[in-house]
Amino acid sequence: MNQNKGVVLKYGGSSVADPQKINQVADRIIKRKESGENIVTVVSAMGKTTNGLIDLANEISLNPNKREMDMLLSTGEQITISLLSMALNAKGYKAISLTGWQIEFLTFGHHMKSKVQSINGDILRKYLDEDYIVIVAGFQGIDETGDITTLGRGGSDTSAVAIAATLGYSCEIYTDVKGIYTIDPRMYKDARKLDNLSYEETLEMASLGAKVIEPRSVELAWKYKVPLYVALNTNDVKGTHISEEGDKMERNSITNVSIMDKILLVNISLVTNDVELINDIFVKLGNENVNIDIISQNKFSKDKFLVSFTTTSDNKYIVSEVLDKLELDYDFIENVSKVSVIGNSMRTQAGVASRVFEILSQNCIEFHQVSTSEISISYVIDDYNIEKIVGILVNEFEL
Ligand code: ASP
Ligand code: MG
Repeated sequence: MNQNKGVVLKYGGSSVADPQKINQVADRIIKRKESGENIVTVVSAMGKTTNGLIDLANEISLNPNKREMDMLLSTGEQITISLLSMALNAKGYKAISLTGWQIEFLTFGHHMKSKVQSINGDILRKYLDEDYIVIVAGFQGIDETGDITTLGRGGSDTSAVAIAATLGYSCEIYTDVKGIYTIDPRMYKDARKLDNLSYEETLEMASLGAKVIEPRSVELAWKYKVPLYVALNTNDVKGTHISEEGDKMERNSITNVSIMDKILLVNISLVTNDVELINDIFVKLGNENVNIDIISQNKFSKDKFLVSFTTTSDNKYIVSEVLDKLELDYDFIENVSKVSVIGNSMRTQAGVASRVFEILSQNCIEFHQVSTSEISISYVIDDYNIEKIVGILVNEFEL
């Protein structure tokens, strides 16, 4: 039996966008293979292939059957695995491409947002023992009826982590950015790259709008303690390590500012604090699959109660339908974003919230909503104030 250590290397769509890039990925895999590790590679569809497939489906139908969508979308990754395997073969290396169903990547739940049930590690180990470089299609699996499923957009990260967890390997996610930053470098060019983060901080960041890594994959990595590394696909600059401890030095109280745009704020006016009605509103929204974020409830005046919540702006139509049916008095606030400041040490360091409140008031920046978790504070702020607040927070917290 081959007792080598192993690693799962995941390459996203931009890293395998054309044959030349696929060849470059093959060279990087070979370098790792030469160092004696067992290698499983998980890849996404080439470039913007998945978007193209969705457009194609929408030309046929505006509401395509989700089982058929999975059948269609899973083809994208299948193209990449075969080409990458061919590239490795052409360079004289043993490689084999495998689809989700070939490794018994079992999923449960709904089509297009399936969840991972289990993976047959023996199938992978058999090929690794025979010294193959194993290349697995990300994003796809099969359900208990044998239908092809997909894990939701960006799901290849989750595929890679799930395979790493099954094999007891670490997982390296290669992408087109150099790692995880204090703030999205597209928003703030002097953002600093973070060397070490905890699972909890990374999960908070990914869930609150940082786009480098899919939140579900971080959750899974945390659960199974899979060491994660996020780096540039050329692997010539140091990326970000994600582990249980994160950065052990008590440096800044804030490690990151994440921004989630396209938020819809909904304000509903009620004449009484009718708990049953409020419950009914959220049950009906839930039935329509509307994901609710920050909820607050205030007594506005003697006879007016305000129930507010946020959701993503693509839910605008369905929210108004639900609220109209209940004959409620409501309004929408649009063009707002959620700005979150995140940091592990907020758990033990007091005063971060008050500092942010002070900054907002000193700079006359209004916020519509605020919510907190143990390691983050989020404010819903008008889009026209985002650039300003980002600049101020970066300065204040030395990000
Ligand atoms: N190809 C899929 C997508 O574009 C999965 C992935 O890239 O992670 O969403
Ligand atoms: Mg991705």
